[in-house]
Amino acid sequence: MSIAFTELCFGYTRFRPVLSGLTGSVEPGSVTALVGPNGAGKSTLLRLMAGLLAPNSGLVTLKRTSGASPDIAEEVARIAPADRARHIAYVAQRSSVAFAFPVRDVVAMGLHAIGPDEHAVGEAIDALDLGPVAARSYNTLSAGQQQRVSIARAVAQLLGREGKAPRSPRFLLADEPLAALDPRHVVLALQLFRQLASRGIGIVLVLHDLTIARRIADHAILLECGGTLSRSGDAPSVLTPEVLGPAYGVHFESVRVDDGPPALIPTGILEARQTPGRLAPSAPQTR
Ligand code: ATP
Repeated sequence: MSIAFTELCFGYTRFRPVLSGLTGSVEPGSVTALVGPNGAGKSTLLRLMAGLLAPNSGLVTLKRTSGASPDIAEEVARIAPADRARHIAYVAQRSSVAFAFPVRDVVAMGLHAIGPDEHAVGEAIDALDLGPVAARSYNTLSAGQQQRVSIARAVAQLLGREGKAPRSPRFLLADEPLAALDPRHVVLALQLFRQLASRGIGIVLVLHDLTIARRIADHAILLECGGTLSRSGDAPSVLTPEVLGPAYGVHFESVRVDDGPPALIPTGILEARQTPGRLAPSAPQTR
């Protein structure tokens, strides 16, 4: 019961490959951090795992059990959307809702393919601390509140499925889900992701904050510029200054924290790599 990608190649156009020859998998009951520099292809890989894009070559498959027969592996992009929604919930980096729906209704939309489940909706709303805004129109919320609604919608989808088919594989694929959240809601979301993992859900998070990645993730997949796999494995072995430094072109310092894994603080640019954003030293002023 996993989502696996094998020799995966993808480009939005024929002439510009974005991902080249990626092989790996994500498993139920664990948290995987998908990390790497801007443009490395993290969102693209997530959309391929969600079946929203189809590979140019290679495979992305969902392995699932079908009754008493052995596990079957199906190409995710070929699974009908309603069937896919029973297994995979996707949280986009940015989402919009065309009409002025109340928050509670937007969360309930996650259950479109599953069937109504008021309990799942209520649990998701509580978990994301959305009770005080549940009756408000989604379009009137702040960016961070809207992001919490998007997570809640995906959580309702997965919890609703749990009520109907507790043993079926379920995955939450979330693209930078913490980017707009304040620290309290970051902590609440991290606790929620861990609880969902302990209920058997596979969690995949695209993250830029590597300290958070180190705290939450069991596994990590590091993509490099050019869409190749730099490293994947247990989070403590991938999320280290030695591995991350060359991939990002940044020097990281590992700082001990009392209650958990070390914080990873970017402290300077590695000179060996191009630094396009740097200002040239100013010319001496002459009169
Ligand atoms: P970031 O950290 O900035 O969010 P990322 O690692 O998630 O980046 P992607 O968004 O997957 O990277 O983009 C990978 C590459 O694909 C980039 O070069 C980007 O310009 C390109 N790309 C992304 N979406 C499209 C699209 N819809 N059409 C064409 N090219 C795209």
